[in-house]
This record gives sequence, structure tokens and C-alpha cells, in this order.
Amino acid sequence: MAVPNVLIVAAEESIGRRFESEVLLPPVFDVTFVASGKVAVDLIKSNLPDLVFISTRLMDGDGIVFGQRLAERLPALPLILVTAEWSEAACIEAQRQGFWDCLPADMPVSQVEASVSRCLERRQRLRSWAVNEASQKSRGLKKRIQTLDALHKVGQTVNSSLDLDTILSAVVDAAVEMTGAEEGSLLLLDNATGELYMRAARNFQEDFVRTFRLPVHDSLAGQAIRTGQVITFDQAAPKKIKTSYLVHTLVYVPLQIQHRTIGVLGIDNRQGGHPFQAEHISLMSTLADYAAIAIENAHAYASLDLERKKLELILTKVEDCVIVVEHDGRLIIANQAAQKAFGLQGNLAAQPVVDLIRHQDLLDIFQQTITTPYRSEIQLDDGRVFNAQVTPIPEIGTVVTMQDITHLKELDRIKSEFVSTVSHDLRSPLTAILGYVELISRVGPVNEQQKEFIARVQVSVHNITSLINDLLDLGRIEAGFDARKELIPFGVIVNSALEGLALRISEKSQQLTVNIPPDLPTVMGNPVRLRQMVANLVGNAVKYTPPNGRIAVLAHCEAGQIILQITDNGPGIPASDQPYIFEKFYRASNVPNETPGSGLGLAIVKSIIDNHGGRIWVESSEGYGTTFTVVLPVSLEKSH
Ligand code: ADP
Repeated sequence: MAVPNVLIVAAEESIGRRFESEVLLPPVFDVTFVASGKVAVDLIKSNLPDLVFISTRLMDGDGIVFGQRLAERLPALPLILVTAEWSEAACIEAQRQGFWDCLPADMPVSQVEASVSRCLERRQRLRSWAVNEASQKSRGLKKRIQTLDALHKVGQTVNSSLDLDTILSAVVDAAVEMTGAEEGSLLLLDNATGELYMRAARNFQEDFVRTFRLPVHDSLAGQAIRTGQVITFDQAAPKKIKTSYLVHTLVYVPLQIQHRTIGVLGIDNRQGGHPFQAEHISLMSTLADYAAIAIENAHAYASLDLERKKLELILTKVEDCVIVVEHDGRLIIANQAAQKAFGLQGNLAAQPVVDLIRHQDLLDIFQQTITTPYRSEIQLDDGRVFNAQVTPIPEIGTVVTMQDITHLKELDRIKSEFVSTVSHDLRSPLTAILGYVELISRVGPVNEQQKEFIARVQVSVHNITSLINDLLDLGRIEAGFDARKELIPFGVIVNSALEGLALRISEKSQQLTVNIPPDLPTVMGNPVRLRQMVANLVGNAVKYTPPNGRIAVLAHCEAGQIILQITDNGPGIPASDQPYIFEKFYRASNVPNETPGSGLGLAIVKSIIDNHGGRIWVESSEGYGTTFTVVLPVSLEKSH
């Protein structure tokens, strides 16, 4: 044993010297003598002694008070009071104050030695007890840390792995290792058969795991599933009670997903082993939660994956071309049809479309920023024509779907050709009919009834002629025969069209408001067609608005565009008809049969506006009126 380090604190030098030279002799003891309590405290702080003698008198105070304070701070430090006035009562009082012993200053050496060794022994016992206690506590702490560590690892596996087998095996392993059980298993309920099967296991035979099937109704695990409660089983003798194998002790903890129990996590001891404690059950519950989360994640992932694969398959197999491009110009998807049509090959995902797509019109679509969907036509080098629907999706980018409309375009061309040939061929006989009908009254007298019949023939022939003229016009406009364009002051065009309608307006006593600024800019266009466009729109307003109705024709220039609006307070157009009124021969459902018209006027208007790079749309409310808005680009060239 190391040499005990003894501190003597006393005002009387005689005491210090006596103890140093007679009682606590070197090399058995290492003695330090100080007279002041303050100095003693400093010494104790820097080097804790094994024993302290304190005299009742100190240089800087009362030894008993000093000892009492020291005992409060350091209860394991042996303190012996040395007093000149020793009495039994004083001794008892000193021990109450925290001193371990109390000796008279002149106590014989042997008795002092006996007291010293008693104190040192007691100190040793105290120390061993403290060390033991601390190591037990730290063992418990260490175990808890290990447990937390193991739980943390399982948690990490749950978060980082998508492989359910790995996760569930890790959960069962942890359950066995943390509880010291002999075996562990994770049983899941097969809803189809109502049986439990082993999804993961530790220390069970592989064959047993594979063939294990347990009816849920008649088993302990089933009880845990039915009640959602933990089942513990603790029998002195092993029994084969509803487990299908013999166990001494067992714990089943339910696996719950949204208040539904889907299986159990179990541990057991077959050989005997220790009974399971409350802390084991709480650990098992945490592990069961991990397993339930993992199973739920796996289900969610599997169904997401299935949906994704289904969508992918649909996209791949669909005959329309589908191309999706991200905002930064990188390709997200090009389905099989699109790859074939535009010759896309190799590794396409996330590649910039500029490097992939050689078709300039298609590339232009992806290189512009759009906010509203629109339709466009794309002509391929092999002559095919695609109808492209371009849709911006804010969170993704641009989606283009394309259908092959080559056959429709061809049909349209053949139909237009046919209509135009027939119309042309019909014109001469109609002119002849009109001519001869006019001659009838000149060659002889006709009675009133004959006159009326002649007038009816004339009206009908006029209607057919105007229909044929419309058809021929449309054919010409669509074929681009009016390509010749010149700079025209747009206001002049509008006024000229309005002049042509003045008589009809006054016949119907309609109120016309016109606001055309004199400085309206010029447009580059075909004057005959633009006049026809305005005349058709205002003509419709006059035709459909009842007598005494109001019509307004307003134009202004804004952001390099001329905006023309024709508004009336006529019958309006039903919302269901509005999308179709620009199609050929379409007439809205609220037009009375006797109202003349062929349904070609707005088709001509639309073709003329398209040819001039403009746009037209309608806003109408049935019973309140209609507004057509035309937008035409202003010519950049100056008129002269
Ligand atoms: P239509 O020869 O029938 O006038 P259009 O092509 O000019 O043919 O117009 C197509 C249809 O649009 C008309 O039949 C009518 O139903 C509707 N329409 C056009 N303009 C107006 C308007 N100002 N007020 C109400 N309906 C209109």
C-alpha cells in the first residue's frame, strides 16, 4: 500500500511536532503540518490527503468549525479531532459534527496508531464500496448506451434501405441480441389464408421458417393480432401452447400500421433462459414500430413503383408522340413513337434537347417560354404532318403530344379541291339562269304571280351564288392565292367596310358606335381580304342583332398590335357552340332557320386573320350580346 499522506492542522506547534516525531513516523507516513485552516484547504484542494488531524485551535479559527465544513464537503475524508480538553461528551459531539474520531492531545502513541489504522481501514472500505457502486452504475449506463446504439443502427437500416428482407432481419437480430433471447421471429398475417408466416427469423431452422404456417385464430400470436396487445408467456415447464413449438418464455409484440395489426415480433427461450423484463418489452415495441414503418414504406414504394411502371408502359406504347422537356432544356421523356419519328437514339435521359432534336420547328417549341397551352402543326421531312399540342406544366417544363394527321390533311386538300372545282363549274350555269330569268319579263307580259315566282328564283340564285363565292374565296385564301400584301392604313379599311353596311344598319334602325382613332397605324396585308374580314364580322352583328339594337366598332393600338372589337347586344352565342363557330358550315343552335347564312363567314374571317399573323376570339353571353376581338400585328415599315 502506498504511504498514507497525513495532514496535521493545528495552531499548537507542540502537537504537530509530537505527531511528526513520535506517532506518524516516516517512512510509514508522509506528514505535512500546517497551522492555518486556509493553508490546509489549499493543500487539500491540490493534493487530497488520506487522513487529517485537526486541533481544536487553529491559527485562523476554530478547528471544530473548520472540520465540520470539511466533513460536509468531503464525507469520505477521515478527520480526527485532537483536543487538549478531551471528554466523552466532547468526543460524541465531534463525531456528530463529522469527525471520525476524537483524541486527547497527549493520547499514548499506541492508541493514536490504533485510531489511525481504524480510520484508514474504514476509508478503504468506503472507497471500495464507492468504486464498486460506480462501476455497477457505469455498467448499467454502458448497457443502455449499447441498447441505444443498436436501436440507432436498426433505425438507420430502416431509413437507408429499401430492401424489406434486410430491414426485417436487422429488426429480428436486434430483438434477439438486445434481450438475450434464444430465438426471434417476425410473423406476418396472410390475409388470403388467415395464416401467419415467418417473414424473418433468427436461430430458427431454415426449413422450419420456410414451412411455418400458423392459423391466426388459434395461436398466441393471433391473440396479439386480435387484441393489439403485447403477449408474454412465462412458464416454468416448456409447453407447446398455441405456438407450434415448445417454449419456456415468450414475448409477442403486435406490429401496427394505422391502428391495424399486421403481424407480431416475437422472442422466446426454448431451453429455459431468463424471464423477459419490462425493459425488454419496451425495446421490442420500439423494434416492432421500426418493422411496421419499414413494411408500410415498402408497400407505399411498391405501389408507387407499380403506378410509375404502368404509366411508363402506357407512355411507351401509346401511338402518339410524347416528348417532355424540363425548364432547363433537358429531356425527361421521349416515348417510342417520338424517338422513331424524330430519329432520337442513344442515351436520351437528361440530355439537352438542342443536342438531340434536329427538327428546327420542334426545337423552337422547346426553346421558347410559354405560359398557356397552344396547338401547332409540324411537318416532317418525309411529308407527314403532326398536330402538336404544346402544354406548359409549371413544376416540370413543356409537354408536347403529337398525332399524325397526314391523312386528315390529305382529305382536307382533296375536299377543298373538289369544292373549289364544283363551285367554279356551278358559277357559269347560275349566271346563265339569272340572265334568262331577267329576260323573261322583257320578252312578254308576266302576271303578278309569275313576277313573284321570278323574284323568288332570283333570291335563291343570289343565295347560291353568294355561297359559291364564299366557297371559292375560302379555297383561294386557304391555298394562299392572296399572298400579295401591301401597307394599308387599318382605319381606312374599317371605315370602308362600315360604309358598305350603312344602308342595312339604318334599315334595321340599329345604333352604331364607331371609335377608330385617325392615327391608327398601318398593317401589312391584303386590303380586299381585310375589308372582307371586317365586313363579315360587322355584317353578322347587324344580321343577328334585332332592330333598334346597339353595335359598337372600336379599335386601338397596343404593344405593337391593332386591337379591333365588334360588340353587339344581340342574342349571343351559346357557350357550347362557341368553340366551333369558326369551323366551316357551323351555325350556332340558337339561330332561327329562316335567318339566311351558310356558316362560312367566320371560317373566311379566321383564314384571313391567320394569313395576316393575327388572332381572333369570341366572348359571348346568350341573351346579352357578343364581342369579337381581332388582334393584328402592326407593320414595322412606314407607309408612304
Ligand atoms: P352565318 O352564315 O351563319 O352567319 P358565320 O360563319 O358568319 O355563318 O357565323 C357562324 C355562326 O356564328 C352563326 O351561324 C351564328 O350562329 C354565330 N354568330 C356569328 N356572329 C354572331 C353574332 N354577332 N351574334 C350572334 N351569333 C353570331
